[in-house]
Amino acid sequence: MKKLVILGAGTGGTIMANKMRKSLPADKWEITIIDKDKTHYYQPGFLFIPFGHYSKEDVIKPKNDFFPNGINSIYANIKIIEPENNKIVLEDGTALPYDYLIIATGTRIVPEETPGLKNKLWFKNIFDFYTIEGATALANFFKTWEGGELVVNIAEMPIKCPVAPLEFAMYADGYFSDRGIRHKVNITYVTPLPGAFTKPKTSKILGQLLEEKNINIVTDYNIMEVNNHEKKIIDYAGKEINFDCLVTIPVHMGDEVIEKSGLGDDLGFIPTDKHTLQSKNYKNVFVIGDASNIPTSKAGSVVHFAAEILHNNLICAIENRPFTASFDGHSNCYIETGRGKGALIDFNYDTEPLPGSFPFPGIGPFGLLKETRMNHYGKLLFRWIYWHILLKGKEMPISTQMTMAGKKL
Ligand SMILES: Cc1cc2nc3c(=O)[nH]c(=O)nc-3n(C[C@H](O)[C@H](O)[C@H](O)COP(=O)(O)OP(=O)(O)OC[C@H]3O[C@@H](n4cnc5c(N)ncnc54)[C@H](O)[C@@H]3O)c2cc1C
Repeated sequence: MKKLVILGAGTGGTIMANKMRKSLPADKWEITIIDKDKTHYYQPGFLFIPFGHYSKEDVIKPKNDFFPNGINSIYANIKIIEPENNKIVLEDGTALPYDYLIIATGTRIVPEETPGLKNKLWFKNIFDFYTIEGATALANFFKTWEGGELVVNIAEMPIKCPVAPLEFAMYADGYFSDRGIRHKVNITYVTPLPGAFTKPKTSKILGQLLEEKNINIVTDYNIMEVNNHEKKIIDYAGKEINFDCLVTIPVHMGDEVIEKSGLGDDLGFIPTDKHTLQSKNYKNVFVIGDASNIPTSKAGSVVHFAAEILHNNLICAIENRPFTASFDGHSNCYIETGRGKGALIDFNYDTEPLPGSFPFPGIGPFGLLKETRMNHYGKLLFRWIYWHILLKGKEMPISTQMTMAGKKL
């Protein structure tokens, strides 16, 4: 039996297990998927938890529910990857050989990288919403908070879903208005970027949205430390910002096993060919999702589009044929803007988000780079699509490659 091993059973690993099981004959190929956690988290849903609009139960399901028949699933911590020996070693010492390897270990937040961040105010006045623990602790805090300085800070790029912190700030505007205390909450969005987003045109439009919602924006801010005693953040230029509640998006890194195995760059992301999704260093290793260093958003939509390409190219590699598919970096993100509205962006490595309609020219029904109610419904519908279509590796009626249909230059 030939062996395909998949590391990580989050978005990317689960989609790939479903796709590859359909394509590889079960009498010739054994597929094994490994994860340390039995629970699958719908991470985009973390956004709604601090505001009490989703609870933990709304974003979790057992990982097993999404695996196809005929694969081995192992719940264990991966200790080391030995690509020179085509072998994985688990925490308990079990060694698993492979012919082909897919790495889908994602990214993790590392608040310890910023001095003072994970200190005595952690989960008291300082929270993240990128983990279930952070999002639920913040929900408890908000329930009784009577207002003050709310600071949303991105420590460093890259981060997962670069629009999520913006969504958080805009959603907070609507939430505190509904509670009748918006006038007591001063919201400040503090980013290391020169604007609200990574792409210049989108940045301008999203920046205007922040302004309309009376959210202050501080750009080019590279946090150096958090002073817990005086409740303020300080950047490398000495600029200080006071907070009563700090919502941090901490430094992101690849999983520790990537670093320990000598497979990562400075932040533990794996050097990956941005078009073929093959590891730059090992021909029988492929990488999908947040674990890679490809220059597009770390987002579930990217993982979904990339999975089509990886499926194609892995079959080519197995059959000893040249690769036939090329990933264009396609990303598609609904942006919750609060008060029942949302925006949408669709872009790739070469084309930045443009205005227009999506997916059909003229009719949409979704609007690109504009605030609409329909986009908000798209964001809410995405959870159903994620559990029922995306994770199971089923086809979606959206092109894998970004198209210019409906976009206005
Ligand atoms: C707050 C928030 C909002 C978001 N909003 C959106 C959105 O609106 N749209 C969108 O498209 N994306 C969004 N995302 C991003 C999206 O959830 C991720 O990009 C996507 O899940 C990445 O998939 P992945 O397979 O690369 O990693 P993951 O789904 O994170 O899976 C990685 C898996 O690897 C496992 N693993 C890691 N290391 C080990 C080890 N050593 N041993 C065993 N197992 C290991 C982990 O347990 C995990 O299950 C959001 C994310 C967050 C946090």
